[in-house]
Amino acid sequence: MVTETEVDVAIIGAGAAGVAAGRHITAVRPDLSLVVLEASARVGGRARTEHFDAGMGALDVGCGWLHGARTNAWTAIARQLGLTIDHTRAPWDEGGRKLETNADARAAIRALDEFFERVRSHEGTDTALSSVLPAGGRWNEYIHAVGAFITGAGLQWSSVFDLQRYDPGPGPDWRVREGYGALVSAYAGPLPVELQTAVERIDHFAADHLGLSTTKGYLLAKAVVVTASTNVLACERIAFRPPLPEKIDAASRLPLGLANKLFMKVETPDALPFDTHVLGSYRDRRTGAYQIRPLGNPVVEGYYAGDLAHDLERGGPEDAFQFALEELKRALGSDIGRQLSLISFSAWASEPHIGGSYSYAIPGASDLRKTLAAHHDNRIFFAGEACSTDRYSTAHGAYDTGVAAAKELVKNLA
Ligand SMILES: Cc1cc2nc3c(=O)[nH]c(=O)nc-3n(C[C@H](O)[C@H](O)[C@H](O)COP(=O)(O)OP(=O)(O)OC[C@H]3O[C@@H](n4cnc5c(N)ncnc54)[C@H](O)[C@@H]3O)c2cc1C
Repeated sequence: MVTETEVDVAIIGAGAAGVAAGRHITAVRPDLSLVVLEASARVGGRARTEHFDAGMGALDVGCGWLHGARTNAWTAIARQLGLTIDHTRAPWDEGGRKLETNADARAAIRALDEFFERVRSHEGTDTALSSVLPAGGRWNEYIHAVGAFITGAGLQWSSVFDLQRYDPGPGPDWRVREGYGALVSAYAGPLPVELQTAVERIDHFAADHLGLSTTKGYLLAKAVVVTASTNVLACERIAFRPPLPEKIDAASRLPLGLANKLFMKVETPDALPFDTHVLGSYRDRRTGAYQIRPLGNPVVEGYYAGDLAHDLERGGPEDAFQFALEELKRALGSDIGRQLSLISFSAWASEPHIGGSYSYAIPGASDLRKTLAAHHDNRIFFAGEACSTDRYSTAHGAYDTGVAAAKELVKNLA
């Protein structure tokens, strides 16, 4: 049974958005009773730090970069909590360490900049990102690969307008040494979280209360903040009675793309450069991005997105490891095979209460982020990365939407 059977506020989901909403409400209205209902056995959602082995360091299986770090709310929270911000430049930022600096790599990056310029200047009707690629462009495969890292999906599926609106805030991108997941769960510390409590239905027939059917019993609440991912909402894992078809429609047109991370142990770390980036291929969209010894840890982190991430997830960790070895042998020489062993491969598409990595908009659907974020009847509030019009797909975007929903809720409950 959920410990309280009647509360003022129930928050569904203890990811970045739910934690932000909970902390805001408890700060400004400590008199309200509140509970966070989390379906899984841990706090953090897509923010998840693992310590796979002694000496391996904190490894982020989900979000890792504090994008737009200077105005990212989590940067300030990390400092408040006494965590350590690492200022090493991200590989895509000015001054970031990359292994390939040859003419091909420079030409590919120029082509990518031109692609982003085409996206920025696109006017008229929304269309798929693939349609703004130069016909027969020499670096189109590379742009496809980077597009998949950004959206988690193929360029043919995602909206130009949505990417135009993406603005994580002023850079650079930093990391937190103890892990982004550790940061989100530390911030959740004071909140009353009920783990392994999945909300299955929200009844909102009655004027004076909401009824929440959960796997651990029935709960009454005056207001609720729903932060489940768009894939969870789209397949109606949480049923609304009466139904809210506009929310289900918005969520289904803002699906989660997929990105997965592979962690490999490095036998002799000193043999490899420190916190350096290498791309598996500039000529094939089915490629991984590799961070060598991130934060100095004896690890190589592979990043795969879109169709390739789905295929590798279906194939399992050993397939992903073999794929990485082939790519890294080409990039770093055949000896690398003797240096690396498999630690872990994420499987975000199969996470039962998440179902993917971050949301993208299908062409024509970017405005639906606002539809998803709008509250219903002054008592069912929505938050989560997909509700952000410019910081979607990020953990600080999720935070912002959580705080925005909390502010609305407090206003309406008063
Ligand atoms: C591989 C990967 C790399 C990433 N890299 C970055 C990065 O570098 N920087 C960045 O900013 N972002 C990154 N992201 C994205 C970022 O992690 C997410 O945007 C953010 O964490 C989403 O937070 P959220 O609160 O919206 O959703 P979630 O984290 O999904 O939280 C929702 C919570 O709701 C719970 N839930 C679902 N259904 C129910 C239910 N019925 N009842 C109760 N609880 C339920 C879920 O279990 C989950 O804990 C990455 C994500 C992945 C997967």
